[in-house]
Amino acid sequence: MATAASQSVDTGLQQLARRHLWMHFSRMGGYDADHEIPIISRAEGCYVYDEHGNRYLDGLSGLFCVNAGHGRTEYGEAAARQIEELDFYTLWSYAHPRAIELAARIASLAPGDLNRVFFTNGGGEAVESALKLARNYHRMLGKGQKHKLIAREVAYHGTTMGALSATGITDLRTQFEPMTPGGCHVPNTNVYRWPEDREETWAADAIEERIVFEGPESVAAVILEPVQNAGGCFVPPDGYFQQVREICDRHDVLMISDEVICAWGRLGHYFGCERFGYQPDIITIAKALTSAYAPMGALIASDTVAAPFMEGDASFAHGFTFAGHPVAAAIAMANLDVFEKEDLCGHVLAKEAEFRGMLETLHDLPIVGDVRGAGFFQAIEMVKDKETKETFNEEESERLLRGFLSAELYKRGLICRADDRGDPVIQLAPPLISDTEQFEEIHDVLRAVLTEAWDQVVS
Ligand code: PLP
Repeated sequence: MATAASQSVDTGLQQLARRHLWMHFSRMGGYDADHEIPIISRAEGCYVYDEHGNRYLDGLSGLFCVNAGHGRTEYGEAAARQIEELDFYTLWSYAHPRAIELAARIASLAPGDLNRVFFTNGGGEAVESALKLARNYHRMLGKGQKHKLIAREVAYHGTTMGALSATGITDLRTQFEPMTPGGCHVPNTNVYRWPEDREETWAADAIEERIVFEGPESVAAVILEPVQNAGGCFVPPDGYFQQVREICDRHDVLMISDEVICAWGRLGHYFGCERFGYQPDIITIAKALTSAYAPMGALIASDTVAAPFMEGDASFAHGFTFAGHPVAAAIAMANLDVFEKEDLCGHVLAKEAEFRGMLETLHDLPIVGDVRGAGFFQAIEMVKDKETKETFNEEESERLLRGFLSAELYKRGLICRADDRGDPVIQLAPPLISDTEQFEEIHDVLRAVLTEAWDQVVS
């Protein structure tokens, strides 16, 4: 098993990081001589190594993105070849071969008539672009009043001001208010917390009720992830997305599938919507498009949504200097070659039951309330009482997650996510090349740490 007994080798990086680096979503004040910044300096396959040489199983694939696994030198070779041929050109009024080839390849993989690819540098920009496109599309058709956006509670769609209006996590929003107008939130599909007599159609009905409440003439789009990440891998009830599709059609509202995490094999398919059999109008992608070897995102629009922008003197007045960067596009092409050659989607479908099965065995621990998810995207919800599903209050949750679990999992060589954006969960999203050895390792560390968490923190 990977263990991470910290030997203190002073590389000087700790001090420099504490003085100069501003880490994202991080309590910088919490790092001192006794609390090191985890500095990851090397990676290979499913494992990463810190500056002291300690090995960790990357149970989160970076941040849900290194899907093909770390250390693939052929991606570097593809990048080097591209730099020799063409280092950079922009997509502002120009095109270049790799962006064209990649757009065509993405379109050939995307379901139905999702044929038009608009590149960005990451997921937040992809969401931001999709929201602007939805508004602009309706305006092009003379329906300029349609500008509002329906998103789900606790969902994370990014941090830029437009994307943040879709993000449904109160603590991420309040400090930056006022929000971009138009964001409306509806219940998610946290079925574990639904009363037993609740109808399966309840959450989709809530979307229609909100559209009607707002006035369909004012609503541009609904945005949802195939499996909602924040809150802990909420899977949809049967028929949910089909019903949402019908609601969107009934009210002339675009359906945006935010697949920044769920695309590229995470759920065993190139796109998450394929797993649940629905056809969105726009898909947003990023992260594993390049398996995170270079930053890149995109929105994929249907022919219908793109059509008004493809005629006469019309244009989508939106863009980013680096979007569709030739080096990132070359790496994405190399990444998709690996997906094809190694059938990573097929591997996830073949192995997800084994992975899930190992996590299910943790149900005998008193702290494990629910195990849920799809593909290589799973969550364990922790509870104080299995029978009543009683959760932790804010202070307990802080003590459990930040005071114990995060550090203990890391100390034992497992990187995963202990998260309380909803109720406290541990999230697992290992590289898609993971197999029995890694599942067993994840299981063993979790069993030990969750047992100790119950003894030390809860009981
Ligand atoms: N949308 C979803 C569903 C995400 O999970 C994320 C990031 O995790 C984003 C958007 C934002 O992506 P990025 O961090 O690349 O801006």
